[in-house]
Amino acid sequence: MPSLMLVGGVELGGTKIRVARGSDDGRIEASETFQTTGPEPSFARILNFFRGGPPISALGVGAFGPVAVRPSDSDYGRLRGTPKPGWRDFDIAAAAGALGVPVALDTDVSAAGRGEAALGALAGLDCGIYLTVGTGIGGALVAHGQPLPGASHAEMGHVSLVRTPGDDFGSVCPWHANCAEGLASGPAIERRFGANLGALPDDHPGHALIAGYLGQLLASLVLVAAPNRIVIGGGVSKAPGLHARAHAALLAGLNGYGFYPEAGRPGFVVPPALGDDAGLAGALLMAGAEARRR
Ligand SMILES: [Zn+2]
Repeated sequence: MPSLMLVGGVELGGTKIRVARGSDDGRIEASETFQTTGPEPSFARILNFFRGGPPISALGVGAFGPVAVRPSDSDYGRLRGTPKPGWRDFDIAAAAGALGVPVALDTDVSAAGRGEAALGALAGLDCGIYLTVGTGIGGALVAHGQPLPGASHAEMGHVSLVRTPGDDFGSVCPWHANCAEGLASGPAIERRFGANLGALPDDHPGHALIAGYLGQLLASLVLVAAPNRIVIGGGVSKAPGLHARAHAALLAGLNGYGFYPEAGRPGFVVPPALGDDAGLAGALLMAGAEARRR
């Protein structure tokens, strides 16, 4: 087995940034977390972390999106149309490239999907889905350890849902009146209930409402991709019982359509085995792959 390389990973989130140094098999050795501010001060802190320690062979970045992740894109590395102040059109690849080592860029969700596929709940599976439910809703379809390449990254959180009767809540998505992110993301939950899902009492109807919407999304993903397992991470997923409720809602959505029994088994919808480290682990794996490719 080839010896391990020391590489760097960045998880660039909308509210916080995590940086890590670790081995190219995805193991984190040292990490730091800080708040996301504007792009320049944020990258100054990121570069400072890596310049202040032993040299790394490559850097993997998992970023919030939408972001141009294909090297053949004319706007490769740039954030596309984010509402986050100051970040629109910011060139992440160029900013990370200031470190002078090869850079691999993907979405934060794809990075987390890679991490779970290599070391976590999606390991050894033909096909898995990593879904994050937090500030937004996003997902990655991972086949044999790799997020599916396409014309861009997927945006599973913007799939339209059927509203629960009586739910006239105004979507928080600026583009869609009925998408999953607009109805069931962290900001939607905060605006609906004035609290996060985990803070609601166990018998609060909000649990069934949100799980119902997530279950609808899961049913669509199952019908499209027939994954072996679905991981749900992100802040909203930390509400106790969320995975079991969403799994039950998924099965209710399929309504007995038994085209494959795997979806009905316990453990089909699970939290990330790597917890909050899935994205950083994936970023380290991306860095390792990029260093070997050069
Ligand atoms: Zn939307």
